[in-house]
Amino acid sequence: MKELMNQMFSIILRFILYEIFWSDKINITESKKGKAITALFGSLSIILCMSFPFASSSGFIYDLRYIPLVLITLYAGYEVCLLVSLIMFGYRYIIGGDGFYLSVIIMIFVIPFILFWVPRFRTCNPKKRVMMGVLVSFGVAVIDLIVSIAWIPDLFGKEIISYILLSIPFVTIGMAITISLIERIKQNNAIQQQLREAEKLKVVSQLASSIAHEVRNPLTVVRGFIQLFIEGNTTPDKRQQYSKIMLEELERAQFIIDDYLSFARPEIGRIEVIDVNSIVSNATNIMSSYATANGVDIVQNLDENLYLQADKRKLTQVIVNIAKNAVEAMPHSGTLEFRTETRNDEILIHIIDEGIGMSQEQIERLGFPFYSTKDKGTGLGMMVSFQIVRMMNGRIQVQSELGKGTQFSILLPRWKEGT
Ligand code: ADP
Ligand code: MG
Repeated sequence: MKELMNQMFSIILRFILYEIFWSDKINITESKKGKAITALFGSLSIILCMSFPFASSSGFIYDLRYIPLVLITLYAGYEVCLLVSLIMFGYRYIIGGDGFYLSVIIMIFVIPFILFWVPRFRTCNPKKRVMMGVLVSFGVAVIDLIVSIAWIPDLFGKEIISYILLSIPFVTIGMAITISLIERIKQNNAIQQQLREAEKLKVVSQLASSIAHEVRNPLTVVRGFIQLFIEGNTTPDKRQQYSKIMLEELERAQFIIDDYLSFARPEIGRIEVIDVNSIVSNATNIMSSYATANGVDIVQNLDENLYLQADKRKLTQVIVNIAKNAVEAMPHSGTLEFRTETRNDEILIHIIDEGIGMSQEQIERLGFPFYSTKDKGTGLGMMVSFQIVRMMNGRIQVQSELGKGTQFSILLPRWKEGT
């Protein structure tokens, strides 16, 4: 009896731990990795059950292995069920004794019985799932009883029958507790997920109006110039100059929209192996007119043969975001330097300015939405950049000194052939 209690609670504990640590990270019913982890976990749980049975008698062992078996089958499907069953047979064979053949025959009835319920289990609500789980495990325990009676002649004379009968309520109750806890944890996870989504939606909608506002300014400028052009009394020289301003304004609008869109849809697009220097040159091109307008010179100091795996567009955007801030930090001209190098297994992209710099407190606030010290700042550039780099398994380091300048370093994993 004591062993039974022990076994029941250790099973419950195992599944709860499993739920807490894995269930919100991976999808156990669909992803390959999830299924593999579930199979591993389930087999381990069953092996533990069989290693410490609550009773054994002349080659037959009695334990609560049906609880993990029913659980993983209901949640993870038939592939995991068959794999775990095979492992279970293997281990049962190693233990040996007459009980092996009986356990195989029981399983021949039990596995189809559980599998029959899987599609129904998937489609019903949490409450029904708890009930179904309990009923299925009760059914399994009853099948065990019936097959045992049929297999072992005059079973009723032996004490084995009491073990079998005793295991029925324990399997059922253990299942009831485990599955209701699992469903409760799942519900809590779902609620948390919804909160995160709602939070993001809120930020996205808050941004929308500020974005619209930001985009309206360049539109007004461009509209004004085009009206001038239509009136026709502008010299070609002036026209050239106005066109340049118009382009810059439109570019600005484009940056803002890009910032916004990459925040609204943060998932990584097309990942490919890219030459870091081509990306840096690309970003330099995009920045050049902006830098010139602010009296900033750009220098490049690029190491050779730096390859990494990333989404070209996104990485360009990060560099542009940081470089744009660097230019804006140098209101009275200065030099903006792009430097690339490799260190151990990482590629480093440094963006160095001679601008106003930041205090420690300012550095710590970088990346928070809407943190901006500029009149027309959106406070989004850094947030988006941090997010993108984090998704690329990289990080951003910042060194800065007030009045001297700032160095942003993007560190990303280097691409190695064959990975
Ligand atoms: P925004 O540029 O719209 O203000 P960002 O998220 O791009 O928003 O930057 C947030 C803030 O971080 C800036 O307002 C500025 O105060 C600070 N910052 C970022 N980069 C630099 C830099 N290179 N030098 C000084 N301050 C910087
Ligand atoms: Mg910025």
